[in-house]
Amino acid sequence: MPTRVRSVRDLTPHMREIELVGPDVPRLRLRPGAHLVARLPDGGARRVYSIWRHDPRSSLLVLRVALHDAGGPGCTWARTVAPDDRLTVEPPRTKITVDASATFPLFVGDETGAVPLLAMRAALHRATGGAADIHGVFEAAGPADEVPDVDGLPPLPWVHRGSTPAVASRVLLRAVQGLDLPPTGGAAYLAGESDTCRLLQRHLVEQRGWNRHAIRVQPQWAPNRPGFGAGRDD
Ligand SMILES: Cc1cc2nc3c(=O)[nH]c(=O)nc-3n(C[C@H](O)[C@H](O)[C@H](O)COP(=O)(O)OP(=O)(O)OC[C@H]3O[C@@H](n4cnc5c(N)ncnc54)[C@H](O)[C@@H]3O)c2cc1C
Repeated sequence: MPTRVRSVRDLTPHMREIELVGPDVPRLRLRPGAHLVARLPDGGARRVYSIWRHDPRSSLLVLRVALHDAGGPGCTWARTVAPDDRLTVEPPRTKITVDASATFPLFVGDETGAVPLLAMRAALHRATGGAADIHGVFEAAGPADEVPDVDGLPPLPWVHRGSTPAVASRVLLRAVQGLDLPPTGGAAYLAGESDTCRLLQRHLVEQRGWNRHAIRVQPQWAPNRPGFGAGRDD
């Protein structure tokens, strides 16, 4: 699908929000938490990004792209992209989405995971008329890197890893270990660095006795895995 960049802004020191418009966008039917593969203009590398917002009436798709220290074609594109640039994207797909019947929804992730998870939590909030008792915790390097939430929703807590690695994050694991969780009725949504997701999943299953099927996991990046999740390495 051809798209054109409508606007770009710095959301945090390490994340940019990019608005795309395109003729095919109004007819897309998206579930909260959906993602797409972007074919980057410079060299054609494929990179996966969650859809933060879809507004069919204005033909709009909004992405939020992390600027990470290792760098890569996605990072370079996000740093340099400008209004009126072109971007080809593939039709969106969904890996995890919300289960409105769970009594204890729990959203946990790092900065990249926060993009789909906060969009999903906003959709769940809307779908239940604000009645869902939503829980969660997110991790960022520091307060300035906390990903801004949808306006008007009760804030979810963030923890900060400082200079400790985001890979297999003990900071996020400790935060989840400290939560008061019910033994049943939960639905967990985990997204972000692959080993962190695995640690969190194992904790919920092995230490908290949560049913494996109640835990939806979306690994989004991993060290030394360029093009993670895009179907092939670039
Ligand atoms: C379903 C899905 C949804 C995603 N949604 C988003 C999203 O909404 N926003 C977003 O920013 N990313 C998202 N990602 C992650 C994104 O696709 C990857 O981070 C991608 O690899 C970044 O491309 P790049 O060219 O910048 O780095 P790459 O060339 O892919 O990677 C180079 C190196 O950088 C490191 N690296 C890659 N990504 C990160 C990172 N996020 N943080 C720290 N180090 C990293 C790794 O060591 C890697 O080997 C999603 C991934 C998936 C699978």
